[in-house]
Amino acid sequence: MKIAVIAETAAAETRVAVSPEVVKAYVKKGFGVAVAAGAGKGSFMGDDLFKEAGATIARDSATAVKDADVVLCVRRPEPAVVKALKKGAVVAGILDPYGDKKPIEALAKAGVAAFAMELMPRITRAQSMDVLSSQANLAGYKAVVDAAAQFSRAFPMMMTAAGTVPPAKVFIMGAGVAGLQAVATARRLGAVVTATDVRAAAGEQIKSLGAKFIFVEGMADAATSGGYAKELSEDDRKKQAALVAEHIKTQDIVVTTALIPGRPAPVLVTKEMVETMKPGSLIVDLAIERGGNCPLSKADAVVEHRGVTIMAPLNMAGHLAGNASQLYAKNLQNFLDLIVVDGAVKLDWDDEIVKGCGLTREGAVVHPILTS
Ligand code: NAD
Repeated sequence: MKIAVIAETAAAETRVAVSPEVVKAYVKKGFGVAVAAGAGKGSFMGDDLFKEAGATIARDSATAVKDADVVLCVRRPEPAVVKALKKGAVVAGILDPYGDKKPIEALAKAGVAAFAMELMPRITRAQSMDVLSSQANLAGYKAVVDAAAQFSRAFPMMMTAAGTVPPAKVFIMGAGVAGLQAVATARRLGAVVTATDVRAAAGEQIKSLGAKFIFVEGMADAATSGGYAKELSEDDRKKQAALVAEHIKTQDIVVTTALIPGRPAPVLVTKEMVETMKPGSLIVDLAIERGGNCPLSKADAVVEHRGVTIMAPLNMAGHLAGNASQLYAKNLQNFLDLIVVDGAVKLDWDDEIVKGCGLTREGAVVHPILTS
């Protein structure tokens, strides 16, 4: 069986779908691995490292995927690469199923089985394959570290002979994987941390990390059975906005991470709220890839509005490319452990994971997100 790894071409995509350690594991299993030249450059994993691990280096992505049974990528492959895919191959990556449908249709037309790793079901068996978790965790950490670097004051309280430095007040909005890591990181840096979420279950997790849970009394729990959030009713949304408006005035740093699968990110921090924040305060909007939680956020830019700095980096996990690639490569390896049996791909379309992530099958687009 041959595995190919493509070189990412999307702007600012630093990650790669394999690490030298994972190449070694594939080779040990008897698989051939072809890595496109320069694929690991953004993660400081040079071609020489992949070669040493047992991979062959292909001239480019289209050459790498030729005859490959499994193609691993971070983002959707370019049309020239799709053209070179072998019929019946598996393509696994973060394929953006809620985005433009045409590239997914092209994958179906190419006769490959394409898997969107971000649709991994939130079940115990799939935890080791969960790319949203592995990447969001890094993003949450980096958001706080970047905020601390940009902030004109210190995070921890300091008692000095010249006076007391007060601790920074950090507010985390959305306490999923990224948000909880942001809470933990801000706490480690010595800030006074509060956090909010619309899922009641997040409250215990926030408190267990030593932060205060900010929640609208009497609000309906907005958790779905899949563990994600759903959109709030108009009444609850207003109540939440009033609570946030009151709280945010006193905060130094706000990190927003709130997402609703398949929907634009909810607006949580309005322009009016920003204008009540102290000059020198800072917002990091991690939801920017889905439009952002603050209407003033500009993708991959730092904006200043009346003394408040708003940062909205795209692909935050990619800012820690070394770790992000290493964990992503491992997620994919665990997925291959499921779909490769006795050295060959064997897709069990009744399996919850295969069905949950599978976008295309035998020439057709099959996932309900795309068909209904
Ligand atoms: P996500 O990235 O979809 O959203 C981030 C957070 O924003 C979520 O906690 C969500 O509740 C919150 N949110 C949405 N709308 C909001 C609003 N209006 N105001 C405030 N917060 C809002 O979520 P995620 O990080 O992928 O995690 C979702 C849940 O799934 C978490 O409980 C996480 O622990 C759980 N999870 C389970 C598994 C597993 O069991 N295998 C794996 C990963 C995550």
